[in-house]
Amino acid sequence: MNDGTSDRDAVSMMAQRTDASPGAAPVGSVSLDPSAILDQWAIGTSGGAYMAGLEGRPVIERTEGSYLYDTQGNAYLDFGSGQMGGALGHNHPSIVASIRKSAERAIHSSNTFLNVDRLHLHEKLGKLLTPPLQKSLFLVTGSDSVEASVDLARKATGGTEVLSFHTGLHGSTSFVTRSLSFAWERKRHALNAPSIAPILAPHCYRCPVKQTFPACDYLCLQVSLELADAHFQAKPAAIVTEPIMSAGGVIEPPPGYMQRLREAADARGMLLVNDEAQTGLGKTGKMWGHQHSGVVPDVMAVSKHFGGGVPISAVCATAAAADTAVENGYFATRSHATDPLLCAAGSASLDIIVNEDIPAKAAVIEDHIKRHFTLLAKDCELIGDIRGRGVLLGIELVEERERKTPANTAAQHVLDYCQRAGLILQLRGTQGDRNVLRLVPPMTTSVADVDKALNILSEAILSAR
Ligand code: PMP
Repeated sequence: MNDGTSDRDAVSMMAQRTDASPGAAPVGSVSLDPSAILDQWAIGTSGGAYMAGLEGRPVIERTEGSYLYDTQGNAYLDFGSGQMGGALGHNHPSIVASIRKSAERAIHSSNTFLNVDRLHLHEKLGKLLTPPLQKSLFLVTGSDSVEASVDLARKATGGTEVLSFHTGLHGSTSFVTRSLSFAWERKRHALNAPSIAPILAPHCYRCPVKQTFPACDYLCLQVSLELADAHFQAKPAAIVTEPIMSAGGVIEPPPGYMQRLREAADARGMLLVNDEAQTGLGKTGKMWGHQHSGVVPDVMAVSKHFGGGVPISAVCATAAAADTAVENGYFATRSHATDPLLCAAGSASLDIIVNEDIPAKAAVIEDHIKRHFTLLAKDCELIGDIRGRGVLLGIELVEERERKTPANTAAQHVLDYCQRAGLILQLRGTQGDRNVLRLVPPMTTSVADVDKALNILSEAILSAR
């Protein structure tokens, strides 16, 4: 596909190309039968879960830059950045070099010792944080970092009650973070953690209290706080937010909202915790998502492409919050949390972000994609809303604009068409709907590749009308 054919040729070539189901597929000299292996050896996923339906998807053999390659030799532009961990481009040469170096020097080390890479990473990350954020500790996954952020807030305030948005998602692997996640069905979890309650997300396109901004005067927040105050059984500790709620359908609070939330937190002695798994490290066109509102959190969780594809996460906090929490017994770690390999990859990812001015690249891609969809929307009623920032963008499809009926079937058509044509993306939405095309291209994607993806998307959307 990088051979100079016109975009339109490329689109139709790709559209014809990848109809085959994976079946028995050669991988080098090895033959794989995905269905047989899954049936016999893998724990399945329940239907409807976002990781379900694996059998129908390509089997990935190799990744590079903005592309995935499957076992049948097909190439796909990856507008999901993997599961967001590939947002610096898959197998970035500096990450590969860092992993090679660690493999020769030190892969694993006890978290009860300091190591050189861990120290470098604390300093490098600390210098990139928005003051008064200053101190960090390292963990492995996004869920780890959110759970440990909540624990820090509880130890720093002496409180327990935590609030998070009803369209937010903060993790799946642990008791606390899955309980903070209201963007998927909570009945999937056998048990949820106590002292956690939702507040209404400020989703202006689908206002939960049927108001219009700014005349609403943040009614959704006022109502939520009144309910929360009535519901608290103990001292409150934290409000957990994402600067842009990604899984809930790429929802950004309106101007001024975060300031009001900050005031609400301060008035109740609660800390503001930002989960910047999806918005941090350049993704929104600035280094941190909170820089758009100017409201700096007390605690911030960082993960996803921190590490350039290897799993490392961080809890970052103001010195005041961190020191008080530690005085009250706070600690958080994992056996692999401070491994030299992970910390070196973390440092390499920060170097890439700074040296390649990754936030600026994300801003250019945002501008390009938004212009394209704004034009397309003029003739296409299906496009209800275009939102998000940087390379965290959402295109909401609706059956007709006035009523905003979620166009779930059309969105699924677009997803399937794109996959057949060589473009991977994901569907998101609010409370069970899957009508938002979520576009997360790696920030290193070339303009030519963005155009290629936009051509496929246009054809897919126009064919869904
Ligand atoms: N926070 C946010 C905002 C996320 O989107 C996710 C995962 N999609 C997580 C936390 C959890 O991260 P992980 O899967 O690495 O535990």
